[in-house]
Amino acid sequence: MEQYDFDLLVIGGGSGGVRAARMAAQRGVRVALAEAQGIEGLGGTCVNLGCIPKKLYAYAAGYADAFRESRGYGWIGEAPQLDWELLKSRRAAEIRRLNGVYANLLRGSGVTLLEGWARLTGAHEVSLATLNADGSAGLQHYSAKTLLIASGGQPYLPHFQGREHVISSDQAFDLDPFPQRLLVVGGGYIACEFASIFNGLGSRVTQLYRGEQILRGFDDEVRHFTAAEMRKSGVDLRLQAGVLAIAREADGLHVTLEDGNRLVVDAALYATGRVPKVEGLGLEAVGVAQGADGRILVDDEYRTNLPSVYALGDVTSRVQLTPAALGEAMQLVDHLYGTGKAARRMDYELIPTAVFSHPNVATVGLTEAQARERHGEVRVFRSEFRALRHTLSGSEERTLMKLLVDASDRVVGLHMVGAEAGEIVQGFAVAMKAGATKAVFDATLGIHPTAAEEFVTMREPVARTPD
Ligand SMILES: Cc1cc2nc3c(=O)[nH]c(=O)nc-3n(C[C@H](O)[C@H](O)[C@H](O)COP(=O)(O)OP(=O)(O)OC[C@H]3O[C@@H](n4cnc5c(N)ncnc54)[C@H](O)[C@@H]3O)c2cc1C
Repeated sequence: MEQYDFDLLVIGGGSGGVRAARMAAQRGVRVALAEAQGIEGLGGTCVNLGCIPKKLYAYAAGYADAFRESRGYGWIGEAPQLDWELLKSRRAAEIRRLNGVYANLLRGSGVTLLEGWARLTGAHEVSLATLNADGSAGLQHYSAKTLLIASGGQPYLPHFQGREHVISSDQAFDLDPFPQRLLVVGGGYIACEFASIFNGLGSRVTQLYRGEQILRGFDDEVRHFTAAEMRKSGVDLRLQAGVLAIAREADGLHVTLEDGNRLVVDAALYATGRVPKVEGLGLEAVGVAQGADGRILVDDEYRTNLPSVYALGDVTSRVQLTPAALGEAMQLVDHLYGTGKAARRMDYELIPTAVFSHPNVATVGLTEAQARERHGEVRVFRSEFRALRHTLSGSEERTLMKLLVDASDRVVGLHMVGAEAGEIVQGFAVAMKAGATKAVFDATLGIHPTAAEEFVTMREPVARTPD
């Protein structure tokens, strides 16, 4: 008789948990996956409250520009109006479809699906709090040789007067009614994306950020350029600005700013960071080591201080992106249940990433400041232009592209602000991973006429970018 109920029990059916469970089960491992949102909520943050619904809304927002700009191309007549309720229900239906795809993939691989809140009760034991069909609560117990925690993260909201009136990105997708006046607080990628989305959908958006410039961690020139373009597109972006208090009045939320100014808005969306989802997991009781911010501490094989307990994805706060959680899951399964062939390793170098703001931002490799610090003298190639599309569209939007090249001629940083930046930079990320030099970029013919061809036609380095 088997010593444990399962070989592997995964807590969390998000990007990392689903991938690990499915791959392990495909190798004949007896796997269970527990998801607090139930089978109908499979897919985690990315599918339900992150990447996918956000990108769908970004597409929706993009139509406003397309309708406006189409006039420059000879299209006449009234522009269509947004039906927010219809958009919400179409999004919800697509997410439900994806939830079903995830459930089928897991079942098809032989994963046992458990619905409920999982809590560690030992190094090999988990309790599952469930809701029975009659509405009563139940508690089940399972054991597994290996436990994997992939419980993800959740929004962090600062404490201030009126906190109860604000929402996080989790609630933004289903706002009711549509906010004609929206306050977005934060300067990270999620804040910029939601500011752009609601601005595009027709809200009057004010975005406040405490720091000197949005998108901390990105190339400084990219940050300034993006801020200018977002303002141009209509977002009232205010830097070094914060909220003192928020009160609900009959005509909306009254926001008092730190500088004494006041705003009245219909909704206030706080995108002020995310924290690991660890409460109620039983980590302290079982003795799983955590960092000061709550993240679960793991080694290079995603093992915690308990040899039978592993963790990956956002709950470990390494790189909070879906492809990173997927990569970590694949490495872990290879490590635990490998076929003897060289195991895959998650590589944290040169991770490409995008911000689906308006305009899009995408980047891979080092910022100019990092490149100078790491490589000393770097050559900077830069192009700023109006895309061909906008010669007739009437839009004033501009595009920025930037390449950073080290002394050995290797391209160590590539940045873009402009339409479809994510789609374009994904391809260049492959070249950079392969170690492409500037000479290789120069030897590559462009696809004409595209914006992307600028990356292979920049010939002269610019003088050092002014600080
Ligand atoms: C608004 C937003 C936009 C984003 N956009 C992008 C993007 O464009 N590109 C990108 O790469 N990444 C994006 N991300 C980040 C991405 O969603 C996460 O990095 C990714 O989902 C992390 O996967 P995970 O498996 O670690 O956790 P999650 O996907 O968060 O999954 C964790 C799962 O565990 C479940 N769970 C938690 N505790 C328990 C418990 N005790 N018992 C049972 N189940 C539990 C949760 O219900 C959840 O389903 C975005 C995130 C947000 C919030």
